[in-house]
Amino acid sequence: MIIKPLEEPVKIQKLEVLKKRLFPTHVKLKEIEKELAKTTAGYKGEKSLLYYLSFLPEEEYMILHDLRLTIDNRNYFQIDILILSQYFILILEVKNISGKITFDETYHQLIRQFNDVEEVFPDPVLQVNHQKYQLIRYLNKKKIVSLPIETQVVMTNNSALLRNQNNSRKYLDTIMRSSELITKVEYYKQKYKAPIFTIKDLRKVAKSLLKGHIPSEFNIFHLFELNSNDICKGVFCTNCGCYPLQRVRGTWYCGECNFSSRNAHLETFNDYKLLFGTTITNKQTRDFLQISSPSTTYKILASMKLPQIGHGKSTSYYLLGSVKLCC
Ligand SMILES: [Zn+2]
Repeated sequence: MIIKPLEEPVKIQKLEVLKKRLFPTHVKLKEIEKELAKTTAGYKGEKSLLYYLSFLPEEEYMILHDLRLTIDNRNYFQIDILILSQYFILILEVKNISGKITFDETYHQLIRQFNDVEEVFPDPVLQVNHQKYQLIRYLNKKKIVSLPIETQVVMTNNSALLRNQNNSRKYLDTIMRSSELITKVEYYKQKYKAPIFTIKDLRKVAKSLLKGHIPSEFNIFHLFELNSNDICKGVFCTNCGCYPLQRVRGTWYCGECNFSSRNAHLETFNDYKLLFGTTITNKQTRDFLQISSPSTTYKILASMKLPQIGHGKSTSYYLLGSVKLCC
């Protein structure tokens, strides 16, 4: 049973908007593209595991994706996939890395060779063991009697060539490919023989963990040391991507491709929300959509029937959910 489903990380959407709206020659663009590729690969890796997870009997296993917990409200730890059963808890750390991958126990590192370039990553086994250590502390603090906790690193890229440099037992036991998932789960079930929890106990643990989940909130500008001046403003053409579109008699007109749209501003409001947050004033709308007239802006905001707070010039509109046209 999936208790916490896999969702596309909001970070991907934020990075995509940043990539779209950063000036094309901006010095941070490469760094943002790299982070976007890394985050998207991680999400795709987890997504590819859904197929194998679907073979676990629903009534026996509870699955939580991307669980972010804290013990002291200062340090947070994130678990890619947590599988709860009556016998054991299994933490999965998912890695979607391509190329020739060498696990080196001497220096606790993962070396990736791709297109003749070598790159070093942290040891994923150390990572997942650290998550186990923190989960034990978390469960102790919540006074939840723990089950045995097992850990696995799942390498989801089927074309990656995996090498265990020192033939280390640690890597043999803790690193697997996606297709081994069911075999491993069965192995752990056999290992612990008798159930420790009832299904009712298990539901309680799952509920408590779900309640403890704290979504990651981060300011994308702080992350890359940017400010609002680095961003291209205006409504983008949904046909050719040019900007800023001109507002002509109630529609948005693109001088580049002659496309006109009544709703092109909706995407712009979504971009604003991902970059700056969920509230916007008339003045901020004029600035971001590049409209000079307060009354035109008022009409656009009113047409969207957004919840609002305040009066007159201080009115703030809430950009909730995915911004849609109300009519
Ligand atoms: Zn266009």
